[in-house]
Amino acid sequence: LEAQLFRAQRLESIGTLASGIAHDLNNILTPILAGAQLLPLKFPDADERTHHLLEILEINAKRGADLVKQVLSFARGVEGKRINLQIRHLIVEISKVLKETLPKTIQVSVDVPHDLWIVSGDSTQIHQVLMNLCVNARDAMPNGGNLTISGKNLFIDENYAQMNLEAKVGPYIVITVSDTGVGIPDENLDRIFEPFFTTKEVGQGTGLGLSTALGIVKSHGGFVTVYSEKNAGTRFKIYLPAIEGIETHQIDEPQVVNAQGE
Ligand code: ADP
Repeated sequence: LEAQLFRAQRLESIGTLASGIAHDLNNILTPILAGAQLLPLKFPDADERTHHLLEILEINAKRGADLVKQVLSFARGVEGKRINLQIRHLIVEISKVLKETLPKTIQVSVDVPHDLWIVSGDSTQIHQVLMNLCVNARDAMPNGGNLTISGKNLFIDENYAQMNLEAKVGPYIVITVSDTGVGIPDENLDRIFEPFFTTKEVGQGTGLGLSTALGIVKSHGGFVTVYSEKNAGTRFKIYLPAIEGIETHQIDEPQVVNAQGE
């Protein structure tokens, strides 16, 4: 328990530090980006090389701004806006996007019952959790494979709750994201939820995907489990407290999935 507490405190201070830096960095990047965007308009006759340099400046300032946004959303840990969410709808929407954008060597399948219970949650945040897991699944399968997203209803009983301290007796939905990728070596399993832990190359990964996802799931009262086998694949399970008996198809439209946060 002490180790857990120490870990939690350490993560909290990393979060505070990161958000402080991110705020400052944001103030630094904003004028750089504005300048990079404005200069080509002010000097349309500048030579090609200058335009090229400004373009590189703009692309990198944007990348910096994206990174800052990720760090801030990781560190914020805000409640978000709670609505009755049709997770089934969200998963179907995400799978459509994945089928459009993932390499054709990755087979995407979805298995979600029509009577999946609803969750009181923030759609943008839950969307982000699922996307982060799917992006990792993609990265784990450079030579292709299967990505499966499934959902089911689960009533957690006392026996289960006693075994898992994070679980409470009551209705949950379980969203499983599994891949047939490279897997996670045992020595990394303990670290993957740490902010900034990444095995990806510089510029490919920030190491914030899973820590952000975990933060969001926890703020919804849920928990995450992971099972992985080297060279066989990885399975993440997201448990979210649900509202029992209210099934997806009983909710009236529209429960809009939006990427902008409103
Ligand atoms: P990032 O994706 O930016 O590296 P994450 O926090 O999302 O940051 O993931 C941390 C690390 O966990 C990854 O770099 C990778 O080593 C490992 N990981 C996460 N998901 C998977 C997966 N599905 N298969 C294999 N490794 C994974």
